[in-house]
Amino acid sequence: MIETFFLGTGGGAPSKRRLPAYLFRRGAFNVLMDCGEGTQITMINHSLSIMAIKVVAITHMHADHVMGLPAMVQTMSMYNRSEKLYIIGPSKVQELLKATFELTHFYPTFRIEYVSEYEDKEVRLTPFPTKHVIPSQGYILEEKERVNVDKERLEREGIRDWRVIRQLKEGKEVKLGDKVLKPEDYLIKKRGLKVAYTGDTSYSDRVVEAVKGADLLLHDSTFLDDVNAEEYGHSTVSVAAEVAKRAEVKRLALVHISGRYEDNEELERVARKTFKWSFAPKDLSYYVLRQG
Ligand SMILES: [Zn+2]
Ligand SMILES: [Zn+2]
Repeated sequence: MIETFFLGTGGGAPSKRRLPAYLFRRGAFNVLMDCGEGTQITMINHSLSIMAIKVVAITHMHADHVMGLPAMVQTMSMYNRSEKLYIIGPSKVQELLKATFELTHFYPTFRIEYVSEYEDKEVRLTPFPTKHVIPSQGYILEEKERVNVDKERLEREGIRDWRVIRQLKEGKEVKLGDKVLKPEDYLIKKRGLKVAYTGDTSYSDRVVEAVKGADLLLHDSTFLDDVNAEEYGHSTVSVAAEVAKRAEVKRLALVHISGRYEDNEELERVARKTFKWSFAPKDLSYYVLRQG
């Protein structure tokens, strides 16, 4: 199960919508995507633990996506965090934090490791290139494929020897009597969930490629069709829907909405003309994905 918390669905200048920040939670694994101003206060006020964040992934250096981070790191220290924090993003994120720490006479109580991607036994977080007015990248968070033995088939064929089962699970062929058991016949592969976040971007084939088949896509949807979004390195709601359609994702969340639009229904109405499974999340709403 992956839960997505839409902490701030706006973008650019502050408006009634909060600035961009999205928390993906999978059990104890928490990753924060972007950290607009006010993110930590929003989380604290709504009982979402900033201490539980293991990875922060920043898409690009525009202020609305990153200025909440130095303050959040300082708060983690005030709470005596000791667990390492992983940060993924442009190298300038490190420069920003370093300069802020120096200028504010602050030393974190915990280690920060700057990485280009993150992987553990169960999940993988990888960046992909997007198309904005400054260098930027989006992120894919995916559960790793799980492999289980086909218990019914083993039972049916009377295979109970755990050494045989273990070898099959390790992907090895096993000779049993006069038969050779092939692992692919006895293993069931279960695809993991995949969620994607573009950050700020205009239309890009590379985005379509990267987000292919995602269970949930959060795509830049800054404007309706009344603005030439591409000129500003952004997308319209219709472009986001087109990307969702081409990439055959399951659900599209319209995010990074300009402060000029207050009516989510209008955004949804326009997006659904191209891609039926679009929605415009409200700030502080969340979406739960379960493996089908
Ligand atoms: Zn932005
Ligand atoms: Zn931007």
